[in-house]
Amino acid sequence: MALLQISEPGQSAAPHQHRLAAGIDLGTTHSLIATVQSAQARCLPDDEGRLLLPSVVRYLPGGGLELGHEAREQQAEDPRNTIVSVKRFMGRRLADLPAAGALPYDFVDGPGMVGLATVAGERSPVQVSADILTALRERAEFTLGGPLAGVVITVPAYFDDAQRQATKDAATLAGLNVLRLLNEPTAAAIAYGLDQGSEGTFAIYDLGGGTFDISVLHLSRGVFEVLATGGDSALGGDDFDHAIAEWFCGEHGLGGLSALPPAAQRALLAEARRAKEALSSAPEAALALAMPDGRRCEARLTPAQLAELGQPLIARTLAACRRALRDAKLGAQDLSGVVLVGGSTRMPLVREAVRQHFGHEPLCDIDPDQVVALGAALQADALAGNGRGDEWLLLDVCPLSLGLETMGGLVEKVIPRNTTLPAARAQEFTTFKDGQTAMAVHVVQGERESVADCRSLARFTLHGIPPAAAGAARIRVTFQIDADGLLSVSARELTTGVEAHVEVKPTYGLADAQIAGMLQAAIGASQADMQLRMLREAQVDARRLLDATESALAQDAALLSPTELAAIRQAMFAVADALETQSPVADVKAASTALSAATESFAAQRMNASIQRALAGRALDTLA
Ligand code: ADP
Ligand code: MG
Repeated sequence: MALLQISEPGQSAAPHQHRLAAGIDLGTTHSLIATVQSAQARCLPDDEGRLLLPSVVRYLPGGGLELGHEAREQQAEDPRNTIVSVKRFMGRRLADLPAAGALPYDFVDGPGMVGLATVAGERSPVQVSADILTALRERAEFTLGGPLAGVVITVPAYFDDAQRQATKDAATLAGLNVLRLLNEPTAAAIAYGLDQGSEGTFAIYDLGGGTFDISVLHLSRGVFEVLATGGDSALGGDDFDHAIAEWFCGEHGLGGLSALPPAAQRALLAEARRAKEALSSAPEAALALAMPDGRRCEARLTPAQLAELGQPLIARTLAACRRALRDAKLGAQDLSGVVLVGGSTRMPLVREAVRQHFGHEPLCDIDPDQVVALGAALQADALAGNGRGDEWLLLDVCPLSLGLETMGGLVEKVIPRNTTLPAARAQEFTTFKDGQTAMAVHVVQGERESVADCRSLARFTLHGIPPAAAGAARIRVTFQIDADGLLSVSARELTTGVEAHVEVKPTYGLADAQIAGMLQAAIGASQADMQLRMLREAQVDARRLLDATESALAQDAALLSPTELAAIRQAMFAVADALETQSPVADVKAASTALSAATESFAAQRMNASIQRALAGRALDTLA
């Protein structure tokens, strides 16, 4: 099944014409571009034969720039203008970046996304990413000898709307046609050919430079489904480097890494990283640091020492793995395999820990640096129409629940967290007041029961609801999330067909740390939330009863004796009082029950009266 037809009408591609398509791993630390040639995916090297492009851009006075290796070498000299790990800022506001103060950049807070003030002027993370993507596009077009028809760019599975949209915007700015954003773990699974006939559930363990991601994928009959995602956006190879550097300082009584001058800090971190990487293929590695006072400090790092330093970090990755499996409602025994992704999974101690935790020999024969780009290239090739007719249908999940605000500031979840994408879910709502002709729709994201604790995504109003009694209109609200994870919401009144629609243009800026925080808060607060929900529901019910009684009195008060009317008025007053004073659930409910009781005979009289009105003037025998 072809997922996307990119041929223009009347210009259908000749049967054997190969469309140039590429897969791009736009990584925090490194980026790569790969393509399929002769049914084989391979990463494309730069003119010096290097595959990895450091995701680093240095801006120069006058508007020029340096990129990749060249820029990374200058990082220590010109930290303010040399942007590293820009992926962390994509779709983020300053408030979303708690560690921003520790970074050497001049952040400019924007309404949508942070900007970075450089010597060449302000740059947004989208522009910086676009510069990286442009370098990769030029590399591919030079090597392949023609323009790219389309690309697949990978993103972490936990990326929210804003981060995905920012990635797409960067691609557009770089002159790329994005066929699809693809989750990184899914790309890795494709690279391993797990789609080729195999059935089963796989964990993808991705430990990169600054992030850890775990994803649980289910594959059956060529369909990928992401069952759960998790991870830690502030945990990666860099933390091993820091742990090694701190240990080194301890060995030499240097009073901790932060006590060193900035240049020495950077030099020591680079040493630590070099030693750590060397230790992946050597029994021992040496570190040396020249101190500003001319002293030279040295140390030898052994696997046992690295294991001790890395143990707490690895334990954190395994805790995230347990959470993801729990979200997927699976145990380690349900997995058919584990795939290793990311440069840090080269460390033997990481491999060993994963093997023990999952009880599986991890899949690691494909270079963990390249595996994501290779999978993206295979997917791009299929989407560009070069496929062998067995293209995959890819399904991912949404990281946070999406819902609507309902009466009382409560959230009605429409698409629960971890729902497979693309997804469309509809729910019916009704009007709350008699004669209500418009309904405000407020779309929110999060796990909590109360709107105030969730993130507001969009608001729109459905007008033109035919005036009717409260509860008579039927309004169907449909949430749709496409394969790239972008949301649109529509509301339709079913009797008249009036419709309103909104594309949820993400307001840039929800950190995955915030996602994790919101999830945690939801778990911790579920007890309090339950009580709040009960109170709000009781309040909504009470208010509805009050309104209904009021409108009944307006019509039919004449049916009541003065004593009956006084009793009802008194019960109404008690309900209104309970609402106004924010009384506890039990009191609100008691007042409502009393009002229901007080109006019981009134309701019966009204019903009789209305039957009599209906019958008036009609002969009994005309009633069938
Ligand atoms: P990202 O996905 O964040 O761009 P990568 O997958 O490129 O990151 O991983 C970069 C990390 O991998 C760095 O921390 C680097 O030190 C680490 N790394 C690379 N090679 C090795 C190795 N041989 N042994 C240990 N760590 C390594
Ligand atoms: Mg990566």
